[in-house]
Amino acid sequence: MGMERWTWRWRWRWERFYSGFCTIPNSSISQPDSVQLQYVFTLCARGQLQEALSLFYAINKPNSQAYATLLQGCARHRCLDQGRALHQHMLAHSHDPDLFVTNHLINLYAKCGCLEVARQLFDQMPLRNLVSWTALITGYDQHGRSDDCFRLFSSMLAHHHPTEFAFASVLGSCNCIRGRQVHALVLKTSFDTYVYVANALITMYSKNLGCDGAWAVFQSMPTRSLITWNSMLAGFQLCGYGAQSLDLFSQMHSDGIGFDRATFLSVISSLCSDDNDVVLGLEHCYHLHCLALKTGFVSQVEVATALMNAYSKLGGDVSECYWLFNETSGCRDVVSWTGIITSCAEQKPEQALLLFRQMKWEGLNPDCYTFSAVIKACAGLSTECHGSAVHAQVIKVGFEEDMVLANALIHAYARCGSICRSEQVFNRMEFLDIVSWNSIFKAYALHGKAVKALQLFEQMNVQPDAATFVSLLTACSHAGLVDQGTKIFDMMIQNYGIYPQRDHFACMVDILGRAGHLLEAEALIYKMPMEPDSVVWSALLGACRKHRESKMAELAGRKLMELDPKNSLGYVLMSNIYSSEGCFHTAAFIRKEMRGCRVRKEPGLSWIEVENQVHEFASGGQRHPQREAICAELEVLVGKLKGMGYVPETNSALHDIGEEHKEEQLFYHSEKLALAFVVMNSGRVCDWKTIRIMKNIRICLDCHNFMKLASDLLQREILVRDANRFHQFRGGLCSCSDYW
Ligand code: ZN
Ligand code: ZN
Repeated sequence: MGMERWTWRWRWRWERFYSGFCTIPNSSISQPDSVQLQYVFTLCARGQLQEALSLFYAINKPNSQAYATLLQGCARHRCLDQGRALHQHMLAHSHDPDLFVTNHLINLYAKCGCLEVARQLFDQMPLRNLVSWTALITGYDQHGRSDDCFRLFSSMLAHHHPTEFAFASVLGSCNCIRGRQVHALVLKTSFDTYVYVANALITMYSKNLGCDGAWAVFQSMPTRSLITWNSMLAGFQLCGYGAQSLDLFSQMHSDGIGFDRATFLSVISSLCSDDNDVVLGLEHCYHLHCLALKTGFVSQVEVATALMNAYSKLGGDVSECYWLFNETSGCRDVVSWTGIITSCAEQKPEQALLLFRQMKWEGLNPDCYTFSAVIKACAGLSTECHGSAVHAQVIKVGFEEDMVLANALIHAYARCGSICRSEQVFNRMEFLDIVSWNSIFKAYALHGKAVKALQLFEQMNVQPDAATFVSLLTACSHAGLVDQGTKIFDMMIQNYGIYPQRDHFACMVDILGRAGHLLEAEALIYKMPMEPDSVVWSALLGACRKHRESKMAELAGRKLMELDPKNSLGYVLMSNIYSSEGCFHTAAFIRKEMRGCRVRKEPGLSWIEVENQVHEFASGGQRHPQREAICAELEVLVGKLKGMGYVPETNSALHDIGEEHKEEQLFYHSEKLALAFVVMNSGRVCDWKTIRIMKNIRICLDCHNFMKLASDLLQREILVRDANRFHQFRGGLCSCSDYW
């Protein structure tokens, strides 16, 4: 009793001493070593490793227990240097590490990634036990040395029965064949009843062999922990089984299992799987959002960011993302900033750039993912200046070599109309992957430069994929290269063994149809091995419109209405065909049907940037505050162009449909308004060489004629990006040679 009190007093005094000064104690204070050692253990248990070490080095006779405890602390906190110093101290004081201490040394070196040192110690051991083997196996697994891990595990079997930890580690680094072998051993040794091992089996199966094996293990488990459920959820997410993941989550909910952050993150991520319906996915996203609010998980930055990413991937409202982002104020990190920038990138690119600036004001450094999101936003803007400003920052922070960013820049510059800068980025890249090649082909296609794309294809030194051929075929279709397009299509199948998908067929139908080979295009559709989708039919419909072929158009229009009842193109075209043939009743019926299906035409919108401000114009001009002045300016412009031979295309029976509302007057198409606005402000923008207009849908024949003449009248280059491609109007001509 007396001894205990004494110890307690000393411990209390040591505690006071250390929490006050945390310095190395004066070794002249002669305290019994055992007391000091006791205190080393206490400090270690509290996680005060530095203080524990300082005290330890002042002790005259350290013992194995102390070394072991401290080594364990170093391993836990991944303090390799301190651990190494302890090891040296041990050797210098000729304290021969016993089995117990050596195991701790192996554990330390293995955890910190010094696997060679750990292995050396392991090999030199005169005697090893189960812990020695398991420590090294775990180390190999944690540092991705799967071959070494499996080999060591196999040699272990000659000496010991594995522990559950050894099983879990080896399963973590198994491929499918080894995984099955280990599973067999698990069953033989009855380790399948250990939750820890079964969880590892679930993860191993879903990583290597799809979800069936994982599901079988999951179902056979008599008891499951939360980690089991999370592993299965993560497995479904990994395999892209969004629906199953959601089902499992609702089962967890009804079984009263509860959930944690990892559960939430897996389920939210699985909302964006390909097999999920977008509308349904968005609904689930709202539910999970509510649940996160109720349970308070929403305030955790990872959960909020995951929800934000799900909303933006599912095309949800940006304001929801904004709300979530504001929830995380106080603990925002680069990941959550990147999340909100990504959410805005497509729908609100200017907003994304603003947020990017704000993030930097708050002193956070963007990473590759942030830059990738901002570059994506730049692709949605009308001028290349934002793209080049971000590009400059990418170079400044040393990400220039990053392939993902370079690929994104190729795309962004092309979208902003600067194909030269796209080429520059592409040519400067040291390494090119399939995405780099596909990006440059896509850029050429967007600019109608099919010949360049085909020439570059000859130099391609990476195996092309399906997307490569979509870009090449698109380029051919934009340039009217029928023979080359057909050659590429055949080459894809014969030389590269790539089986054509719907996209490839749609391109071919487009190529043949636009060039006037309508019957061949139709025949190709009937030859398709899969059911043609709405994209294929609308390609044929577009061709029929161009060549005023009403019979075939009727067929294509019907198919389009069946397959894509929300798409206005089929309805509008059909009603126009009927009214042009005098069947006004039928035409009216189709329009009524369209309204009944709540099909709304996408309004024609154009954007231009004047003095760093983006102006939006809607067809009809309702959206702009200076509507009157713009319309007056437009009238003057139309008058001048008429003097140059401009005749408005009022025959809109077969063309012009699908581009703008028929009832809206041709004169007030959004791109014409945008051009009038530029002319109005030409005093402020006189240094512009090029007038850049962006448009959400395709340019109509009338506007195309209008722009050609306007480029001649104004003596300026006019660059119009429509939904499909670029039109570069110069001196009365367009780069598309009227082929679009
Ligand atoms: Zn138009
Ligand atoms: Zn054109």
